[in-house]
Amino acid sequence: MKLTNQWCAAVLLALAAAGCSQGHKTAADVDWALHGLDAGEKRFSALEEITPGNVSELKVAWYADFDARSLRGVEGTPIVVDGVMYASGPWSKVLALDAVSGRKLWEFDPEIDGAVARKGCCDVVNRGVAYAQGKVIVSVLDGRLIALDARTGKPVWSVQTTDKDKSYTITGAPRVVKDKVVIGNGGAEYGVRGYVTAYDIATGRQAWRFYTVPGDPKKGFENKAMEMAAGTWSGEWWKYGGGGTAWDSMAYDADLDLLYIGVGNGGPWDYKLRSQGKGDNLFVSSIVALRPSTGEYVWHFQEVPGDEWDYTATQHMILADLTIDSKPRKVLMQAPKNGHFYVLDRTNGQFISGTPYVPVSWTTGLDPKTGRPNIVPAARYSTTGEPFMGLPSPAGGHSWQPMSFNPNTGLVYFPIAEMAYPYVSDKPGAFRYDPRGWNTGQDPARSSMPEDPAIRAEIGKSVKGALIAWDPVKRRKVWSVPLDTPWNGGVLSTASGLVFEGNGTGEFAAYDATNGRKLWSINLDSGVVAPPITYSVRGVQYISVAVGWGGILPLNMGAALDKAQLPKVNRVVTFRLGGTGKLPVLPAEQSMPFDPPAVTASDAVIARGRTLFHTRCWMCHGDTGVNKGGVPDLRMSAMIGDKAAFAGFVLQGAAEPRGMPNFGKDLSPEETEAIRAYVIKRANDLKAERGKR
Ligand code: CA
Repeated sequence: MKLTNQWCAAVLLALAAAGCSQGHKTAADVDWALHGLDAGEKRFSALEEITPGNVSELKVAWYADFDARSLRGVEGTPIVVDGVMYASGPWSKVLALDAVSGRKLWEFDPEIDGAVARKGCCDVVNRGVAYAQGKVIVSVLDGRLIALDARTGKPVWSVQTTDKDKSYTITGAPRVVKDKVVIGNGGAEYGVRGYVTAYDIATGRQAWRFYTVPGDPKKGFENKAMEMAAGTWSGEWWKYGGGGTAWDSMAYDADLDLLYIGVGNGGPWDYKLRSQGKGDNLFVSSIVALRPSTGEYVWHFQEVPGDEWDYTATQHMILADLTIDSKPRKVLMQAPKNGHFYVLDRTNGQFISGTPYVPVSWTTGLDPKTGRPNIVPAARYSTTGEPFMGLPSPAGGHSWQPMSFNPNTGLVYFPIAEMAYPYVSDKPGAFRYDPRGWNTGQDPARSSMPEDPAIRAEIGKSVKGALIAWDPVKRRKVWSVPLDTPWNGGVLSTASGLVFEGNGTGEFAAYDATNGRKLWSINLDSGVVAPPITYSVRGVQYISVAVGWGGILPLNMGAALDKAQLPKVNRVVTFRLGGTGKLPVLPAEQSMPFDPPAVTASDAVIARGRTLFHTRCWMCHGDTGVNKGGVPDLRMSAMIGDKAAFAGFVLQGAAEPRGMPNFGKDLSPEETEAIRAYVIKRANDLKAERGKR
């Protein structure tokens, strides 16, 4: 029962750690044309019609629903150009909407094969489109990049940016830099080698590709940077891909002509499997600066040498000018998963500061000169062979949800999560690389949560979420608004002194930027994770947010999301002062009679099913079977009582068009029955828990 003790230790650790402008500028038409509003991605709007004084009059102007196959996560930043909004939803579908009325102008469906869903860890989300040269450019989950005619929504060009035989996916937004569009990809947990590629906007022709980790040295290196990086790896990492996928953040400085990319974790996670437990493994968990015309390497800063905790550096980067020690500095700011808020000199990658913004257990701090972390020996679980309770968890102290920087207050606003996770290497020799499967090298039986309700309740108490305001110069939290879940929305701030953010309970709220006081809120019928935007058309300021609950935590860590609002809608909702739109009233939920089938399997079969469930099923159906996203919580599914129907889903792909993989080549009928036995056991656990309430 070592793991139980690890969990209890984590609970204790976590518990212990535990000017507004009055001006009313007449706004002309103001677009939100770039993903992060400006190329430095501050997500700070100069619009001032909506103020702390009148935000209470903010009302719905209009809403528009995504055409979703099912209610899956919505993480997109809509963009607005010349009075038209382009918003992306689940399955990389795009809506073009009149930004004043919400009237649908066109919609685009890339018609993704549902089988692609198994290649993605974290829901079939899309974080937004790009606009340039009269084209709307959308990245597609299956690895395509498609340019649409902005007037008609018809494809102008389409390129496959990934090898379809490997488990690459794309969820990030493309970024436009001069005459090129740049896109990365995801899949570090699935055995791929990361890269970003630039394409010519006019033609879709590839301009350059920059790999983020080295390939097989025997095949030669693509460039000097890869040769240098290869010196920081050991063993035969290329056989497992190596990871380092750049799946979300980029930013561009036009004066310096530098493109910054955030690079993800190593793959497999287990450092011993990946690189014999040796070397820094560049450019895993690094920020890399590239020359955008050629893709040439300029500098890098590695946050986590030899990462084995999924501590990606793919989180949002903000470029700003700060005065630090009385000197003006051109900085790059990031609050990556690893729990430290970084301030770098973006001209050369030099470390300025790095400060924990949540409790961290993997390091005792960063070297004040170099920023290199002092990693605690126990955190090296692949070397010690012992489980390590990590803070933050692989979901991060902060994940992809965009931050916002208000130059007037000098504060960065972003959502944080406090949550622990037990990192446990798989048994020696147990790892089998599977190009179609999960390749982290973790022990699925021991890295999952214990089923004991008392321990789970204690773990639940240690999980926290908040919206915080961070001073990047004084390196401290200025205010914090506790939230009811650890998975919440991206952030917008405005020059009038407002901060907007949605959260996991379905609330969308406006806060005072100086002190975090809540000034306005509305319930939007689903948890909100996407970041809001603002724009103005004919002098009227609008606030808009895409609504839809999903992403990694709702799918795989439902146990941490007791107070979340389950997904009921996938839509864009837009507000203005005195808006007269109405949200539809949803039908009352039916409470279904809950009577799971009796447990008939032996303890041994259930234990085997538990391991198989946490190898094949948990990423979407939830750790220990608890799901709070848009994928069925199997404990409450009538199907678990029907052996043939269950096998039809698992072994024959009955729901593959909706994204449920066909495991016919991966699981035997007996293994499928063991999984069903485990889920039936969990359904009975749920019945017993409900009986006690
Ligand atoms: Ca990852």
